[in-house]
Amino acid sequence: MNVSCRATRSPLRCLASAAVVVGLLAWAGPATARSAPTYDGALSTPVEDPYYPSHGDPGVDALHYGLDLRWSRATRVLHGTARITLRVTSDTDRVTLDLGKPLTVAAVSLDGAGVSWTRSGNHLLVDTPPLVAGTRHHLTVVYHGTPHPVTAPTSRSDLPYVGWHTTGTGAVWTMQEPFGAFTWYPVNDQPSDKAFYDARIDVPGDWVGIFNGRLVHRRTTAGRTVTLWHLGSPAASYLTTIAIGDYRGYRDTGPHGLPIRYWVHRGDTSTLSELRRTPGMIRWLERRLGPYPFSRIGTVVVPSLSGMETQTLVTMGGKLLRDYPPREFRSDLLHEYAHQWYGDTVTPDNWPDLWLNESFAMYTQFRWEVSQGWRTMADVRDELDSLDAQLRAEDGPPGAYFPQDFADTCVYYCGARMLDRLRSKLGAATFDSAWRAWPQRHRWASVDRGDYISWLDYRTGRSLDSFFTTWLTSPTSPP
Ligand SMILES: [Zn+2]
Repeated sequence: MNVSCRATRSPLRCLASAAVVVGLLAWAGPATARSAPTYDGALSTPVEDPYYPSHGDPGVDALHYGLDLRWSRATRVLHGTARITLRVTSDTDRVTLDLGKPLTVAAVSLDGAGVSWTRSGNHLLVDTPPLVAGTRHHLTVVYHGTPHPVTAPTSRSDLPYVGWHTTGTGAVWTMQEPFGAFTWYPVNDQPSDKAFYDARIDVPGDWVGIFNGRLVHRRTTAGRTVTLWHLGSPAASYLTTIAIGDYRGYRDTGPHGLPIRYWVHRGDTSTLSELRRTPGMIRWLERRLGPYPFSRIGTVVVPSLSGMETQTLVTMGGKLLRDYPPREFRSDLLHEYAHQWYGDTVTPDNWPDLWLNESFAMYTQFRWEVSQGWRTMADVRDELDSLDAQLRAEDGPPGAYFPQDFADTCVYYCGARMLDRLRSKLGAATFDSAWRAWPQRHRWASVDRGDYISWLDYRTGRSLDSFFTTWLTSPTSPP
């Protein structure tokens, strides 16, 4: 989000498989034993979130979501079927998922047999036969209703609500960090649980339903348009996105032939011309952070004032370009692309470690702005120094921010200041080498601050624990 295998030395939370090829599956129904993909690349160690424990269940490790979604613009009703391949992490006779209260569940089955369920607030509680820890199951949930966003745990004015948003015309968009996917599909909505996705989206007329990953199929018949999407890299639920509206798609090509697609509203040429800066941005990022970690990139423009690093398809607020100078939009776009390395391919498994995303993305953004000649690094340091104490007082320190101030400025600015000081401490060459290596060595992993610090200790031969503890948790500005 914007702001307005040495790896194995410490256990990582998700298998960082070198190459997992997952076939298209599943929105059409449970796979047969012969054709079923293993989804081993999405094996996770889910944790209970220290800040938002009511979201997500560490007893569930979702491996794949097959979403079949039909949207009515006239009635604002979503009809959905979610086919979820999951692993239970302990012996149990209950599976709990997050699902928005406004959605009505019509049927639930487990491994092909109907099961009973109850609802409790924004949860779906499924009663199951006794399940043995580690076993995998296919859960199907049929549901419908009018999705509503929920209040975001933040004081940010650009992010009052998270989840599914419906516009006055019946168009749809989402922003869902730190949670909110549950407002439109049943999900283990916590970042430690990554999964593969396929989505089938059925929308009225020649509108388009857009999702992360590769557009596999698109057809308009009988007054409806159906798109099929495949996300072949495991993603945390907050990194999924959906947009429905009068979109036009434009192709582009990045470094090494990287497929790029921009989705903008019909006739929106000004935003499209800004998005066409993408290949140059990816090229700049690859020089600093190493090869782009996914097989494609793109951006969908939505009526928001915020941007979000949704995996392989950034969700970009078009109001940023309308309400601010173009440089703001460009900086934010670069920031969301930087997250594909810091946040998407390697992801914090808990929200107090949001700094593992935002400090690095913000620092990368500052370095890019300096490279564009917009400011000097001395200017950046002056700004960060002048704000550090005030931001720690207002939002809490970057690694122990106040839970009701999610993604407020401290995590970005104070964290970026910490990284700039770390660069001085380690030396530019050592820091820049680690800046590049971390996401490359931890592809598809879920981590916490201990993983990062122990990895950096080993790499540099230093003991950096007290440095990070001070910078991440001190309520006053470190000297
Ligand atoms: Zn960000």
